Amino acid sequence: MSATPISLPVPQVPARRAHVRTEPLQDIPVPGRKRVLLAAPRGYCAGVDRAVVAVEKALERYGAPVYVRKQIVHNIHVVTELEAQGAIFVEEVDEVPEGAHVVFSAHGVSPAVVNAAADRGLQAIDATCPLVTKVHREAVRFARDDRHILLIGHAGHEEVEGTAGEAPEHTTIVNSPEEADTIEVADPSRVVWLSQTTLSVDETMETVRRLRIRFPELQDPPSDDICYATQNRQVAIKKVAKSADLVIVVGSANSSNSVRLVEVALEYGAKAAYRVDYADEVKQEWLDGVETVGVTSGASVPEVLVQEVLEQLAGAGYRDVEEVRTAEEDLMFSLPKELRQDINGQKTERALGGRIRA
Ligand code: SF4
Repeated sequence: MSATPISLPVPQVPARRAHVRTEPLQDIPVPGRKRVLLAAPRGYCAGVDRAVVAVEKALERYGAPVYVRKQIVHNIHVVTELEAQGAIFVEEVDEVPEGAHVVFSAHGVSPAVVNAAADRGLQAIDATCPLVTKVHREAVRFARDDRHILLIGHAGHEEVEGTAGEAPEHTTIVNSPEEADTIEVADPSRVVWLSQTTLSVDETMETVRRLRIRFPELQDPPSDDICYATQNRQVAIKKVAKSADLVIVVGSANSSNSVRLVEVALEYGAKAAYRVDYADEVKQEWLDGVETVGVTSGASVPEVLVQEVLEQLAGAGYRDVEEVRTAEEDLMFSLPKELRQDINGQKTERALGGRIRA
């Protein structure tokens, strides 16, 4: 993993015009001034940008099709656009023809998946976010120390499956604060907690608090597992939410961090909050009597989708847009090593236009 102090440019995934509303929202008067508070940071994180670029570069380098295990990132627009470029998304590696290139998604994979791909002779490109890989390494290390890992996260989410798969005998998944009250472990004196990277910070801390009541010797992870992008987007929407009559979160239903943003907005004072994939999903009735609309997007959402929502809102009279920025982000990651090894460094730098480091 490497970090350099440059800003990520706006992602180049184009808009799907088919999703732009044909009948615009109406500009119905409200008692006060209509405005939009636009949360920042929002949208693409460094791990998502890297994963999407990895698929694009694999297509460019090896030609279509390139197979991708699971959605490369949890955003339907991104997946659809990559499919149009020649990516084929599969659920498991046994659906990939022997010897073909397969990209592992940003959410990470268990060693069992890596081994299955190798057994099949697949040429794997691992686009797991380095911040997810960090949690995998922690899981391996704690298991080696014969600790029992309480993995706070959503069972069935790909990231949780991948992390738990590093040490399945040493891991118990804790889905919620309520579950913390009931789980059992063999040796309560040797427990450590880790977490999914995209959870609500507040809810996770509540889960940890309740775990510690049950297991006073609970060990903390060496550093935050909830990643910088998740935390930054939650901090920004908390600030927006307290002044917002309505919050619109752009993001897909299976995007954990996007769904968390809706919950956090409601918790921190928004009178209503909804998630949309596309601008045409914004409903007229959501705007009844609304003066201030907060807008944000999950870490897997291209900025173009947010701009389309702002266009829709402008048509309804919400033309006054004020950015509420709570942090600057300049993290970027190198391409997966398999791609770096396969692409001439100088050529890569030119082809990427400086978008991501090779
Ligand atoms: S949300 Fe966080 S952990 Fe997930 S890909 Fe983005 S930076 Fe990585």
